[in-house]
Amino acid sequence: MSFQLTAEQEAIRQAVREFGEQEIRPVAREFDESREYPETIRKQAAKYDFVAPNIPEKYGGAGLDLLSTAVITEELWRADAGIGSAISSAGFGTAMLIRYGDEWMKEGWLPKIAGGEAVSASAISEPAHGSNVAGMETRAVRDDDEWVIDGNKMWITNGNVADVAIVMAKTDPDAGHRGITAFLVPTDTPGFTAHKIDNKLGIHASDLAELTFDELRIPAENVVGEVDKGFYQLMNFFAHGRVSVASQALGVAQAAVDEAIAYANEREQFDQPISQFQAIRHKIADMATSVEAARSLNYRAATAVESGDDDIAAKFASMAKLFASEQSVRVADEGLQVHGGAGYVTDHPAERFYRDARITKIYEGTSEIQKNIIADRLL
Ligand SMILES: Cc1cc2nc3c(=O)[nH]c(=O)nc-3n(C[C@H](O)[C@H](O)[C@H](O)COP(=O)(O)OP(=O)(O)OC[C@H]3O[C@@H](n4cnc5c(N)ncnc54)[C@H](O)[C@@H]3O)c2cc1C
Repeated sequence: MSFQLTAEQEAIRQAVREFGEQEIRPVAREFDESREYPETIRKQAAKYDFVAPNIPEKYGGAGLDLLSTAVITEELWRADAGIGSAISSAGFGTAMLIRYGDEWMKEGWLPKIAGGEAVSASAISEPAHGSNVAGMETRAVRDDDEWVIDGNKMWITNGNVADVAIVMAKTDPDAGHRGITAFLVPTDTPGFTAHKIDNKLGIHASDLAELTFDELRIPAENVVGEVDKGFYQLMNFFAHGRVSVASQALGVAQAAVDEAIAYANEREQFDQPISQFQAIRHKIADMATSVEAARSLNYRAATAVESGDDDIAAKFASMAKLFASEQSVRVADEGLQVHGGAGYVTDHPAERFYRDARITKIYEGTSEIQKNIIADRLL
């Protein structure tokens, strides 16, 4: 087991860090306040292959492994979580297309997404069914050579800006998780409506929507993979998604540590920098240790996912996601504390890190669900 990144992965980290420092960090507060989607920055990032770096070179992507992709996500979120989310989620659902899609789907969509011309979304959650994916109610009914989709999807990242969505729907409503199918749905299909959700706590620059499908018709060939096998297909990617969210959590936590160190060295009380007080020194030592521990676990999880042993991958990915997200919120909270009153207002990014970190405990399976998954593999 190696605990060192390769020279190529270190070079990738450096390149993303420079992009983040030049193009993202200087406008982070502005985008947080305006809640605008960072279209131009996403397109710029695509030029450097930072958007959906998992897309194979054959389809215009960088064809990077999960660990390299995790490093990219971590650095984007270190620069800013909201803009980082918009960039790192621009290819949501492409993992499903790469593994299960027909050639025409891959050729039609992957080069556009990798090149920044198109954005994808992954529509699983519903108003009444989040953690319980198998309970979804969105229906797809076969009608000759078409499928007709009706239903609602909730909390869909990129819902308003996506050009295409991978939509999960029930094709056999009585079969539970055995009756779910994945569909490729271009968002300009009649019957597709996105309703913007604009009151998030954090990651303001990231787009979020509720989707409605009203007698939406797509050709039969738009099934991704096999009919009724969508749940199993999806399960193959949850570990990837969890490593990705752990990377997000790590990125924002590292930003909180960096900022706390800078502030502690600059702020004086009792005629000395607060970085001289043992209470502050220990706090920062503790924050940095948590981030390093989460990073090590996440890199191990990324390696386990690539190794192909699904059971080990699921356990480590859930552990990494659980630990990194819980630590991220705690570290961001402590970073805010180092700032005293200044941490409670938007003049400093500490409060933004705290708001941004919070999402990582919720999506891609909540902390409670991660514990269920880990326990199921231990007991
Ligand atoms: C900003 C944002 C972006 C998102 N992006 C996407 C996206 O792109 N695509 C997508 O499909 N979804 C997306 N989601 C949805 C996200 O994955 C769900 O919110 C999440 O899975 C939790 O589902 P829920 O909100 O319905 O909560 P619920 O499932 O209702 O859970 C409520 C509480 O009950 C707990 N709970 C539920 N079941 C159990 C159990 N069995 N054991 C113990 N505790 C339990 C939960 O942990 C939680 O604390 C996004 C959400 C947000 C907020």
